[in-house]
Order: sequence, then structure tokens, then C-alpha cells
Amino acid sequence: MRIDLHSHSTASDGTKAPAEVVEHAAAAGIDVLALTDHDSADGWAEAAEAARRVDVALVPGIEISTKHNGAGVHLLAYLPDVSYPPLSAELDLILAGREGRLTSIIAQLRLAGLDITEAEVLQQVGRSPAIGRPHIADVMVAKGWVRDRAEAFDRWLNTGRPGYVVRYATPTADMIALVAAAGGVSVIAHPWGRASRGVLDAEALAGFARAGLVGVEVDHQDHSAADRRALRALAGDLGLVVTGSSDYHGDGKVDHDLGCNLTARDELERLLAAAADTAAAAHRSVPEVVRR
Ligand code: AMP
Ligand code: MN
Ligand code: MN
Ligand code: MN
Repeated sequence: MRIDLHSHSTASDGTKAPAEVVEHAAAAGIDVLALTDHDSADGWAEAAEAARRVDVALVPGIEISTKHNGAGVHLLAYLPDVSYPPLSAELDLILAGREGRLTSIIAQLRLAGLDITEAEVLQQVGRSPAIGRPHIADVMVAKGWVRDRAEAFDRWLNTGRPGYVVRYATPTADMIALVAAAGGVSVIAHPWGRASRGVLDAEALAGFARAGLVGVEVDHQDHSAADRRALRALAGDLGLVVTGSSDYHGDGKVDHDLGCNLTARDELERLLAAAADTAAAAHRSVPEVVRR
């Protein structure tokens, strides 16, 4: 059984529409897919419709922007009720932070001498409610300034580069509690990827486990084999679910093809059982998993 629990569509910074991501998953032999766009559930309905059509099981999720000790931590929230007002208000705040940041990034890039406008980026953003640096990178690629998104980040958009601007993110522990109150379950995405590695040591993960964290994404392209072994052991000690995922972005990220990392069936069952418990305790009507 091939289970991939982290993917992006044009509802954030992926390059394929939600239905196309699901169709691509079916073609790639994926049995269970989670669509986890940044800070938004906008792609869920289209993905669910496609999942019913092409016989893929779909788990609705969101990759939420949080921060811990000053570093960005991406939190995968599976099956939350996004109509729960405190959660939707917080997601709106994060999305507004992305919008405000764009103006500042463009100002800084123009100061650095680049002829780029907010309108050009918004054209690239299209229907995505989450305005991301990848959209700016795509404009740079179209103008022929850089080869790909990676080079745009290296030269202009990463921390310490001319176009870097901080944006609002919710404290991680607060968001774990908010997701649980909305009937969902939280899994930390790529904990030892570049941004969060420095702040997510064993002690921090133990604290989040006490705050209600359900799992950690162990098998991810940002993690070395040694990272994966150490994280898996840590997850075992803390009783956390272990997931593995592609973090697929369509053509936006190389070496992140659907199914390149997978989640074990038992781990998915634990995750879904935890979600059922959380939903019952929260008295929320959570979105359905599209079953095959
Ligand atoms: P933002 O959401 O605007 O903070 O931008 C972060 C997003 O940019 C991540 O979710 C990745 O999808 C993407 N990203 C970050 N670094 C790179 C890179 N080197 N190459 C391609 N995409 C990247
Ligand atoms: Mn992304
Ligand atoms: Mn991420
Ligand atoms: Mn992601």
C-alpha cells in the first residue's frame, strides 16, 4: 500500500491543480494521498471530487506556518474542521501576513535593482490564497534571471538574501492546541529540514508531544539516512506516529516526486484513530477521508 501524506497544488505553491495532483497520484500508483497546501484548505473540494473519480483515498490536510524560538516550523494538520472560527481566523492572519510580506519583498528587490512588480507576482499566484516566495521565484525564472526556484532562493529569497522578509506565524504549541480543538491531528513536517533543525531537539519534540502533537514526518527528502534513524528512535520514545511523504510541488521542486517517501499502513491507521478520538473530544464535524 503506497501512502503519501504531504503534497501541494496551485492552492498554494505547487504547479499542478488539485485535481491534477490527485490524477497524477493515481497514475503513480498511490493508494492514499494527503493534499496539504500551505495555510489553506482551498484545494480540498476539487481534490476530493477527483479522488472519487480516479479511486485514490484522500486525506485532507494543511501545512501550517508556525514558529518556535524564532525559527519557522511547518505543522501538518490533518482533518481539522476549518470552519472552526478560532482556526479559520488564525489561518486568515497567516495568509494576511503573506500578502503584506509581498509588498515588502518587492520593495527590497527593487531597491536591489530588480525590475519586478507586485502585479507580476500576483499573476503568478493565480488562485492561490497563500502568496509564497516560490511565486516570486517563478517570475524570476520567466524573466530569465535564474534557472529555477532553487537558484532564486539561493540568490534572492532565502534568509540573509536581499529579498528576505519575515512574516507572521503562530507559535507551534498554540497551533497544535488549535488544531486539536478543531478536531484535527498535528504532525511536524520535515522537523530536521533547514529552517527548523536548530530549534527542534529532543526536548522541544517532547514538549510538543505533551502539548498534543501526534506525529513527526521522518522520511522526507530534507533528512539524511542518519537523521531518519535518529528521528525514528525519538518518535518511538515519545509514542509519536512516524510518517513519510514526498512534499510534492509538481514541477516546483526537483527530487520530490509523488511516492518518493511513503508512510507505513500501521502508522496511517494510528494517525486516523487519533484523529477520530480528537474529533469526538472536540465535538467538531471534521472533513471526511475519501475512501476507495
Ligand atoms: P514561503 O512559503 O513563502 O515562506 O516559501 C517557502 C516555500 O518555498 C517552501 O514551502 C518550499 O516550497 C519553497 N522552497 C524553499 N526553498 C526552496 C528551494 N531551494 N527550491 C525550491 N523551492 C523552495
Ligand atoms: Mn511549499
Ligand atoms: Mn514545508
Ligand atoms: Mn510542504
